[in-house]
Amino acid sequence: MNYSDTERIMTVLEKMGYEEGEGQENSDLIILNTCMVKKSAENRVYGYGAVFAGLKEKNPKLKIGITGCMIHKDTGLRGESKEEVFRRMPTIDFAFRIKDLMHLPDMLHKMHHMEGADEVSQMKSYFQISPKITNITQVFIPIMSGCNNFCAFCIVPYTRGREECRDMAEILEEVGKMAKRGASEVNFVGQNVNSYKPTDADPDSKDSPFAQLLRKVDAVEGIKRIRFYTVHPKDMGDDVVQLYGELDSMVPHIHLPIQSGSNSCLRRMNRLYTVERWKELADKLRERIPNISISTDIITGFCGETDEEFEESVNLIKDYKVDLVYVSKYSERNNTYADKHLKDDVPYEVKKERFERITEAMKEVSVEYLKQFEGQTVEVLIEKVQKGYASGKIPEFKLCRFKSEDKFLVGQYVQVKVEKALEWVLEGMPVD
Ligand code: SF4
Repeated sequence: MNYSDTERIMTVLEKMGYEEGEGQENSDLIILNTCMVKKSAENRVYGYGAVFAGLKEKNPKLKIGITGCMIHKDTGLRGESKEEVFRRMPTIDFAFRIKDLMHLPDMLHKMHHMEGADEVSQMKSYFQISPKITNITQVFIPIMSGCNNFCAFCIVPYTRGREECRDMAEILEEVGKMAKRGASEVNFVGQNVNSYKPTDADPDSKDSPFAQLLRKVDAVEGIKRIRFYTVHPKDMGDDVVQLYGELDSMVPHIHLPIQSGSNSCLRRMNRLYTVERWKELADKLRERIPNISISTDIITGFCGETDEEFEESVNLIKDYKVDLVYVSKYSERNNTYADKHLKDDVPYEVKKERFERITEAMKEVSVEYLKQFEGQTVEVLIEKVQKGYASGKIPEFKLCRFKSEDKFLVGQYVQVKVEKALEWVLEGMPVD
């Protein structure tokens, strides 16, 4: 989401005449697009405070702005605000909510006397600002922002606010434009894509609005791969499951967050689904595509997590062959339900040990999953060429690389014969 929002910020700055600076030392403007889903991400932002003070001393023209999840509607501007962010980072000059990106030109006009983005100021939603595409082939398109679920650990509903969905016509126009410019992989982003409810969905369709959108995008010429993040097991319907194996562009990979393999822990997390529901979805997806790659999220050491509850998470990963887990140690976020009503009582050492156990379990599954590709030819969409290797993802979202220095491969699809599966990556040779 932040990656996609940054592309919209870049468009606004470019329209105003800013050019990309060569590093922080040579820039007159720095904008931090922040994440605070984990405490470590927030701390990293505060860690920049001292760096910025040094930069400002060398360049008095430098202005520093901040946006993203750390900024909410009451943050306001320096001088009017007692917010933590201004208190802890006195070098910040201004802050804006990402949904107020349309007002950035006015702020910068006052600070740097830059002009030239009048049309942006008149837009009704920041989604209407076209992103500056940094990768022509793979594009990230937000379909919604905000969340109506209040998972006990999560700060997103307090920072991004309630769900706001883009109209389908607007999204399809953006996809169409991108496809004409060469995009072939669309990544839809939103806090809960299954809860997508635009004003212009077909009310008579048997499909949910999200399934309608997927069908329409599949029909756009040039689109080969569709991915989306993130799914909520409570809202994911069979209509979306049905599209796997039916639409050519639905890749054989899904990110299906579970957070915990224990029903009692899920209840405390207020996730509003059961482990059985998650398993049912995984089973149905494997009926459609037996070899589908399933990734998930797990939080270790959530309030009150017992050894038994944790073991259920480990077992789920092994039993359901979850080949990629985004695992995080629970960290308290201010004002969430867990912060106010539950006790962060699992010691840090235990959270860490459980983190490592999950990583170990995932590694075993991942190696086994990757092994099946040895000797096969896979299609790789090249994302980067560095340190003597060209690398990118196969449809199953696994990284594959081969020796090459050819920078022009970025954005190209290359057929690769896999020679060996390493721990996290496939290695092979391109074939004609
Ligand atoms: S679904 Fe839960 S975890 Fe995801 S953004 Fe909403 S509140 Fe946060």
